[in-house]
Amino acid sequence: MRILAARAWLVDGWHSDVAITVEAGRITAIERHAAYLPGDTTTDTLLPALANLHSHSFQRAMAGMTEFRAAGQDSFWTWRTLMYRFLEYLMPDHIEAIAALAFMEMQEAGYAAVGEFHYVHNRTGGRRYDDPAELTHRIFAAASATGIGLTHLPVLYTYGGVGKAPLTGGQLRFGNDVDGFTRLVEAAKSTLPGLPDDTRIGIAPHSLRATAPDELAAVLTSHAGCPVHMHIAEQPKEVADIMESLGARPVEWVLANADVGAHWCLIHATHMTPAETAGLAASGAVAGLCPITEANLGDGPFDGPAYLDGGGRFGVGTDSNVRISMFEELRMLEYSQRLLHLSRNVMVRGAGSVGKTLYLGAAQGGAQVLGRTSGAIAVGNLADLMAVDSAHPQLCGLSPDQLFDGLCFAAGSEVVTDVWSAGRYMVRGGRHIRRDRIVVDYQATMADLMRLMRA
Ligand SMILES: [Zn+2]
Repeated sequence: MRILAARAWLVDGWHSDVAITVEAGRITAIERHAAYLPGDTTTDTLLPALANLHSHSFQRAMAGMTEFRAAGQDSFWTWRTLMYRFLEYLMPDHIEAIAALAFMEMQEAGYAAVGEFHYVHNRTGGRRYDDPAELTHRIFAAASATGIGLTHLPVLYTYGGVGKAPLTGGQLRFGNDVDGFTRLVEAAKSTLPGLPDDTRIGIAPHSLRATAPDELAAVLTSHAGCPVHMHIAEQPKEVADIMESLGARPVEWVLANADVGAHWCLIHATHMTPAETAGLAASGAVAGLCPITEANLGDGPFDGPAYLDGGGRFGVGTDSNVRISMFEELRMLEYSQRLLHLSRNVMVRGAGSVGKTLYLGAAQGGAQVLGRTSGAIAVGNLADLMAVDSAHPQLCGLSPDQLFDGLCFAAGSEVVTDVWSAGRYMVRGGRHIRRDRIVVDYQATMADLMRLMRA
């Protein structure tokens, strides 16, 4: 397959009339000043596509259902209550259909890949499925249906809170001990030969609340080298709880007690001291920022300027999937910093384009922690590519140097024309090629779920 782009962002900047040859999912040749050849797929402006580093796909079905305040309850209550209620009714077919819709929407928004932080493993009440990896296979099926690049992250979730509190209610669907978790990871790995080559398996010890230090150490040892994703320091209460139980703040504790490095993704990393921010930046790990969800849940913003000054790496994730829009995610990241620091153009070191810093930083960070050789258009990399229409009214009039800023601050997903996930050409003319069927399945799923929840 050959893609001929009127303009493409390569590792050394913009180039015109670029031909990209893709074989077996990877970029095998890049030609500049190329001429059209019969059979070429032509696009306007070609960019490296981003990887969405953090998703709980089933939560997509809850979007719009938790935006009301219940008298006398804390602000997080409506969200958590609905999530646990949802979990009473979610069947494997539902989970697959919701995941397919979420993955499709990610691709239409310009993401080529997703890190699925997968923590629903059991039946309602906690009983295992006959195949303990049943729901993992449903995520694989949704990824195959959409063609998205998948880094699957089975979650170790053993406790209901700090101090080894037992699981209760909806949490029973998440529960696993170290042995059960290891079997789950092995089952996922044994499926890899039937999945696309770019599929990856990592591990996700859920948080310092839901795992204990000895179990965390055990899974880090037995799965050394693979991507490690963990929620951390999302809300002040979590920081206080970890302080009390482990004697240190969450990021401080994990930096001191685990070999945190380039394969680590610390999700949220919202509430950090300057020392934690500097330590995380120096570790080479990626801060997994989920600005839309963090704003939706009232988590707070992390300290962007200090983190960038320390050379910190970051990427973005859609997390709760309340709104799947790659450009809005990057925009919210910058705007949360502007509101915090009472300043413009915050997420850039020194001088330069904020949009370019956000976009290319997230491209590199996302690829790094999903274990994908992507994030740049270069020979040998996976063909994770996105094309946009620079003549769209949201972008026309911008110079090439302003294009990243136009995408991050002025555009919506409607400027995205084409997306390839490891060379799989899934979005064409702005629409996923399997959109109609995926939407019908999702609508039927939601009708079924609403019927069950009302009964
Ligand atoms: Zn999350």
